[in-house]
Amino acid sequence: MAAKGEMLYAWTNDPNLAAKAECGGAVTALWKYALENKIVDAVFAVKKGADLYDAVPTLIKDPKDLDDTAGSLHCGTLLMAKLIKKYLDGAKDQKIGVTVKGCDAMGIYELAKRNQINLDNLFLIGVNCGGSVSPVLARKMIAEKFEVDPDDVVKEEIDKGQFIIVTKDGTHKGISMDELEDAGYGRRPNCRRCEMKVPRQADIAAGNWGVIGDKAGKATFLEICSEKGADLVSKAVTAGKIGTEPANPKGIEIRGKIENSMLKLADKWRARDFEALGEGDARLQYILNETSRCIKCYACVENCPICYCETCSTKNPALVPPGRLPVSPMFHLIRLAHVADSCVNCGQCEENCPMEIPNARFMHANQVELQKIFGYRPGRDLRLPILALVEEKSERARLAATGSDQIYLNVFQPAQE
Ligand code: FAD
Ligand code: SF4
Ligand code: SF4
Ligand code: SF4
Ligand code: SF4
Repeated sequence: MAAKGEMLYAWTNDPNLAAKAECGGAVTALWKYALENKIVDAVFAVKKGADLYDAVPTLIKDPKDLDDTAGSLHCGTLLMAKLIKKYLDGAKDQKIGVTVKGCDAMGIYELAKRNQINLDNLFLIGVNCGGSVSPVLARKMIAEKFEVDPDDVVKEEIDKGQFIIVTKDGTHKGISMDELEDAGYGRRPNCRRCEMKVPRQADIAAGNWGVIGDKAGKATFLEICSEKGADLVSKAVTAGKIGTEPANPKGIEIRGKIENSMLKLADKWRARDFEALGEGDARLQYILNETSRCIKCYACVENCPICYCETCSTKNPALVPPGRLPVSPMFHLIRLAHVADSCVNCGQCEENCPMEIPNARFMHANQVELQKIFGYRPGRDLRLPILALVEEKSERARLAATGSDQIYLNVFQPAQE
């Protein structure tokens, strides 16, 4: 029987799935068992769309369709958390199994605190994450640095610090991430700064780090993070869906070392990215200059897992005059004031910005400053964010009842009879 805290090597017993899966196929095999046995009503995972640069979020109810979701899409920069709120009614009425990267898990926790997602209805299998590559930049990088037509690539992987591509004719080509990132390619800037490498808020954290010996490349490393996770693994083993063995102690040590070195690397990127912003007034000026090219398309608000309000303050004409370019700085100051305490550095506000404004860097820099003062680390557990502690009780009750934060509505728009 598996237990919380245990570390295992696990693999699917289905050879067809093993051929499609990223390493041991344990993640997809566990989802299949959970769906077949109604532990979940549906699985929300990611599958390949038109090509490997096109990661498509997909809700699966028939276990047969799960094989399509096997494998890792490193150009899959989407965020599952906001999609659950927007399109799956926050899992209010159905039990959903979700494969999550660290940023997905953190976004889900922050939305759960805001009553936008029902965490009790979610089963989370986390995947360790060294980083993802923006699909547009990946194509450019493959053309310019690898000198390969991006459409000729049939597989990509990140292994031992290299970004590796496999082309139609079976040729493998790898370039070190350091070299790529020094040249402005590689992982997204927020991923370089990310410190959520093993998402232990999930019920199970799965990865390939630490799988050594004869199981290398053929098993998934599982860290069991909850009783719920332990129960699923035990049942799937008993049903013969997956095989497991205790993780090799040397492998556990290696995995720990890799995780630590990734955290140190993230610290370096934070220092580099944040120093470039300057401090105090200089930082504010930098942010105002960069955001002055904003066209107020709302992509940052729409995709941010911390922005959940039905009526956004940035749409209040008294605060942000409509129809004017450049956009009033208030637009960005409102977002900074509302979001910075809880920003999970998921990168969505930057990835989706048509004006290529490094929004995530600004917000993340401020989050780190607030964390130094108040100690609040977003997305890790269910502790309430800083702003929740300073809001008045009546204000919270009104927010919960109306979903609106328009506290000035009555002042600027006379109440309807
Ligand atoms: P499979 O059975 O093949 O299932 C894979 C699952 O991942 C499926 O549910 C699929 O829908 C989901 N998935 C694929 N792409 C994405 C995506 N972009 N976003 C969300 N879900 C996705 N492991 C490490 O140990 N070290 C790493 O540095 C590392 N980096 C990763 C980076 C990314 C972007 C991703 C997606 C995964 C990474 N992993 C890493 C995890 C590893 O690649 C495997 O996903 C994990 O070991 C499970 O293997 P499996 O064979 O059991 O999974
Ligand atoms: Fe992975 Fe972190 Fe980037 Fe999310 S933000 S894709 S968890 S490295
Ligand atoms: Fe402005 Fe970019 Fe946000 Fe659009 S996504 S509103 S352009 S900052
Ligand atoms: Fe993610 Fe940007 Fe929102 Fe931070 S501000 S949580 S990086 S979308
Ligand atoms: Fe985000 Fe603030 Fe708008 Fe709410 S009111 S959606 S927190 S910017």
